This record gives sequence, C-alpha cells and structure tokens, in this order.
Amino acid sequence: MAEKKTAAQKLKEKLFLDRQNGYYTMTDEDIKASSEFAELYKDFLDKSKTEREAVSYAVALLKKKGFKEFRKGKKLKAGDKIYKINRGKAVLISVIGSAPIAEGVRLCAAHIDSPRLDMKQNPLYEDNEMALLKTHYYGGIKKYQWTTIPLSLHGVVIKADGTSVTVNIGEDDKDPVFCVSDLLPHLAAEQMSRPASKLIRGEDLNIIVGSRPFSKDKESESVKLNIMNILFEKYGITEADLVSAELEAVPAFKARDIGFDRSLIGGYGHDDRCCSFPALMAAVDSSKPVHTSVTVLTDKEETGSDGNTGLRSSYLRYFIEDIAEALGEQGRDVLSASECLSADVNAAFDPSFPEVNERRNCAYVNKGVCITKYTGARGKSGTSDASAEFTGRIRRLMDSKGVLWQTGELGKVDEGGGGTVAAYIANLDVDTIDMGVPVISMHAPFEIISKIDLYSAYKAFAAFIAD
Ligand code: MN
Ligand code: MN
Repeated sequence: MAEKKTAAQKLKEKLFLDRQNGYYTMTDEDIKASSEFAELYKDFLDKSKTEREAVSYAVALLKKKGFKEFRKGKKLKAGDKIYKINRGKAVLISVIGSAPIAEGVRLCAAHIDSPRLDMKQNPLYEDNEMALLKTHYYGGIKKYQWTTIPLSLHGVVIKADGTSVTVNIGEDDKDPVFCVSDLLPHLAAEQMSRPASKLIRGEDLNIIVGSRPFSKDKESESVKLNIMNILFEKYGITEADLVSAELEAVPAFKARDIGFDRSLIGGYGHDDRCCSFPALMAAVDSSKPVHTSVTVLTDKEETGSDGNTGLRSSYLRYFIEDIAEALGEQGRDVLSASECLSADVNAAFDPSFPEVNERRNCAYVNKGVCITKYTGARGKSGTSDASAEFTGRIRRLMDSKGVLWQTGELGKVDEGGGGTVAAYIANLDVDTIDMGVPVISMHAPFEIISKIDLYSAYKAFAAFIAD
C-alpha cells in the first residue's frame, strides 16, 4: 500500500527544485532512443576526427537529405533546405521557415574542432636513426596525456602545383599508427619532480614515424629519406609540400561504450562533437519549421574562435545577411530578432575530483543537457550572460517538450572556467544561451559522456528549431 504523503512532503514537492537522474524520469521509449542515437553518434565520431572530416560527413548527409548548396543571390522560399561550406572547415545549414524572416532565426552553434597535435611546417627530422615529426599542440591540453597512446594522422597537403592530397592514416585496423614517447619510470626521477604542466613540454611532443633506413647505402638521414620516399610514392609529396599542409595527429582509438551497463560513451572529441552531431541531426530531421533555422558547425573554438573559420569572424553574419537579402529583409533586423543556443559541452561532476566543483551548481552525468546562463572565469569575464527573460523562455520550452535538462557552471567561482562561442554570437545582438552535454575528462584524448545526456541535447536542439 502506498504511504500517504505528509504535508511537508507535499509542500516540498511544490516548492523545491528536484533534479533527478534521467533513468528515474525518462520514458522507456526515450531511453531506448538514446541507445539508438548513440550508435549513430559513435559512427560520426569515428569518421569525423577533424573539422574537415566533420564537414565532409555533414555535407554527405545533408545532400542525401535533399539540402542544396546555397549561392548568394539565389531566391529562397519556405521549406528550402540549404547549406554553405566555409573553406572546408565549417558548415552553415538552414531550413527556411514559414514565418517572415524578420521574426528572426533559431540559431544553433556548435564547434567541430577538438584539441590535438598539429604538425609544424617543417615537421620531419631524423635523430639517431629514428624519424620523428615536430608538433605544435592545438587547444588546451594536459600534454602528458598525449604520450604513449596510438595516434592517427589526418589532414591535407597542398602540393607545389596547387593540387591537394587528403591524408588519413591510422584509423583502419590494418594501418600503422604513430606515437609520442615518454620516459621510463626508472629514469624519470628528475621529470617526476617537475610540476605536471612541465612533465612533458611542448617540444617533447614529437611523434615517432619510423626507424628503417632507405637502403644499405650508408647515407646520412637515411631513415628520414625512407619516410619521404614512402610519402612520395603514396601521395606524391616532397618535404617542401609539408610547408603548405594541415596535418593533425589525433587519438587513433574508436568510440566505445563504457561500463558494464553501457550507459556511457568514451571517445576522442566529444567536445564538441557531442553537441555538433545532435545539432546536425536536429537540422536534418526538421521539417517545415515555422521559424527559419540556422545551424553552424564551426572551427577554431578551441583556440579562441579567431580566424576566418572561427565565430569571431564575419562568416556567420554574412550568411544570415545573405539569407535575409534573399527573402527581402535586412540582415541586421534578422539578427536582432534571432535567438541562439550556443551548443557546447560543460564539465560533468567527477566523483574522483569533487573539489573543483560547487555541488549545487555543477552538471551531472545522466541529468540531461546542461543549460549554462553565463560562462566566464572569476567575475564572469568574457561572458554574454543570458537574460532572465531568455533563460525563462528556454526553460519553458524544454519543460513543455519533455527535455531532460539541468543547469551547471564550469567549476567553482575562483577555480578557473572556460568560454564558448556564446559571447561572439550575443555580440551580434542575438539572444544567446549556452546549452550542451556534460563531459568527464574534457580535452583528454578519451573523454566520457552519457547516452541519455547526448540524446537530451538532440531533443533540446530539435525542440528549439521547431519552435
Ligand atoms: Mn567546446
Ligand atoms: Mn573545449
């Protein structure tokens, strides 16, 4: 027999905030859908380890779903589905709504670049009959985490004649992989006495790529010569071509379920592909929206959003202006009426490192997509801080669509913090709020997220662009 609730219990239910683990509150259908969505996501993760690969994946899917490449000057009408690629490293997607564009667009912004090791312009060298590549790391990493793990090499090389070669080695099980070495503990007394930030220094992140001389001729740099010969035979590239290349080393392992219960996903690049994939799928799955949706999968967030493929540049604004023009409106009027979900990850509470978080205001695994009103460190520096009104609107929308959601700040007030693209979009006079999936071990080669949080992000973005 059910026990009768006391007056205090009833009042608590009415007045207190009670965010529960989604496994207690979600429907069985949603939990099943989360597992199915996770399978699609893992495929995306394994095939999209760089921003260029994520763009290729997205564009192939968009074409399959009837999206057409947009060209400035083309007229648009309700129901049109378009995309535009920015230099192969970012993609803009739009579904034209039935409402006048002057009512603004529903904007979802996520990034598809992730921390990694970039090759320097003169990367290849031989030292004591071993061949290595010099790297310059990209984004905020704990350098020691990037040693002694299998790495794959991705990117493009522009040859002297201007033609381009795409490189992808180390993902196929039959491919070789690459590796940064670390000292054996027996000889690491001095190294282990250094602070962790200097345990492995930037110039120690050299990738081993070979050890076999070209031939029995005792030439100098014969191991390097052999590597260049292999690269020449396979790709037709010379050492000079590496100057005009973007070669990126990323973890070679695949996304995997984590845990006996398979509730979590481990993988490289959850930040921010666990938001960019749901945002992409929400755009692809949307049909006949009222308001025009714009989804931007951007590059360069991890290095501060500068450059012409980052969101501090004008490319998003130009795209919205072009759409506005095609529908007979002013871009600035459209922007001022627009709303944005800045879709980026947040830090999940980690039971092994509880001290960095303030437990009442941090995100938890399995409690859903995390809404973050403001980011910024210490005195909220560098944040856009969504208004109470816009936060209230998003909160109502999430609740009305049955989305599992929570709120969270990244760490204690004085602990550190991090930014997202939210401020750059809000600076265009757009109502913007951060929303994303909580991540454990963020920026590590193997990050962890929850399947139901991932699916909640998809539901949230879909609800937003359909609204
Ligand atoms: Mn991010
Ligand atoms: Mn990041």
